[in-house]
Amino acid sequence: MPCRSCGACCASLRITLPRCELDSLGGPVPAALTEPYTATTACMREHPDIPGRCVALEGEVGTAVRCAIYENRPEACREFAPLTILGHGDAACNDARRRRGLAPLPEL
Ligand code: SF4
Ligand code: SF4
Repeated sequence: MPCRSCGACCASLRITLPRCELDSLGGPVPAALTEPYTATTACMREHPDIPGRCVALEGEVGTAVRCAIYENRPEACREFAPLTILGHGDAACNDARRRRGLAPLPEL
């Protein structure tokens, strides 16, 4: 599973989610790790010291990472690059990897 040694997307993309996904409104995502984005959406907060990096990302990008809220992560994260579990990237995944100096994954 290449994501465990990557994390490039979590460190470079703003993740937005509908507010109904927040635990404060009955959803799974910890609202404390988000901030308001639009009237109907929230976004994952950034790491306080690393701009652009999701606050829930732990570890070192390109080496070993994990999502601290993996079981409760936003739907947008669940749907991102779904074929990585089979070792395949896609355009968005590989864009993020290239921005972090990581080799692209084979695409189908
Ligand atoms: S989806 Fe792609 S960019 Fe994101 S962690 Fe997995 S391999 Fe890296
Ligand atoms: S919530 Fe987890 S999977 Fe989603 S961007 Fe943040 S660290 Fe990555």
